[in-house]
Amino acid sequence: MIQITNPNELQEYRNYIQESVGFVPTMGALHEGHISLIKRSIKENSKTIVSIFVNPTQFLPGEDLDAYPRKIESDIKICELAGVDCLFMPTIDTIYTKDELAIKAPSIKGYILEGYNRPGHFDGVLQIVLKLLNLTKPTHAYFGKKDAQQLFLIQNMVKQLYLSTNIVPCEIIRESDGLALSSRNVYLSNTERKDALLLSKSLKKATKLIIEGERECQKIQHQMMEILSPTAVEYVQIVDRDFNYLEEVLIDNSIILVAARVGKTRLIDNMWV
Ligand code: AMP
Repeated sequence: MIQITNPNELQEYRNYIQESVGFVPTMGALHEGHISLIKRSIKENSKTIVSIFVNPTQFLPGEDLDAYPRKIESDIKICELAGVDCLFMPTIDTIYTKDELAIKAPSIKGYILEGYNRPGHFDGVLQIVLKLLNLTKPTHAYFGKKDAQQLFLIQNMVKQLYLSTNIVPCEIIRESDGLALSSRNVYLSNTERKDALLLSKSLKKATKLIIEGERECQKIQHQMMEILSPTAVEYVQIVDRDFNYLEEVLIDNSIILVAARVGKTRLIDNMWV
């Protein structure tokens, strides 16, 4: 596995590859969720590039940028063992200049839900993802459904800017009890972990109600809120796959979303129905 920190070197590496390239962008502290994306990329492409970069521009002031878990040594081993061809780990100074052009997420879909609770977060996400896609020019880029709104906004950017990468949505990987894997789960104490489980429990309840025939979003959201009451809920919302709010669940075109704080840890989860 080749390790690169300089963006121009990555461009050079990329330009030598004639075959298909899969790309998996991450912020590191790799877990089975990331590994599932990496494995899929390796299976579906001749070469796989993984990036690890804790992108400062997607963190708001007061968020956990400094505390964000960093495990670079074990991440490198994980990538090597998985069979990654190239690991890109830029520094802030090499990938950003002092006077950057502004990338703005769409004013509606980039500023609801996650974007409402973290205003400007998606500007930073799209800024770094656009840079990374331009550097790696991947045939396929792999993103988790765990970050559903991020995935939607990236698909939307690729379409609007006529980028030639195919964005591949990947299933959410969970612990056996249902907790969605996240690098931020390491923040949770034993008792907080029990409350964190309520996110997936509320989503399971919602799917059960839908299977039983319930379609009214308000009723479903109300029952989810009851389950989530020990946590500090930021939102519970049902949207279609284009992130329009729904009044009634549309089977095969809905995403049930939840964001809540457990102690100091902010968690998100969702279910595609
Ligand atoms: P992150 O390192 O948190 O920025 O995540 C990098 C990529 O991994 C994103 O596309 C995430 O959606 C994806 N990801 C994170 N957690 C999971 C999970 N539990 N299952 C599947 N994909 C995930």
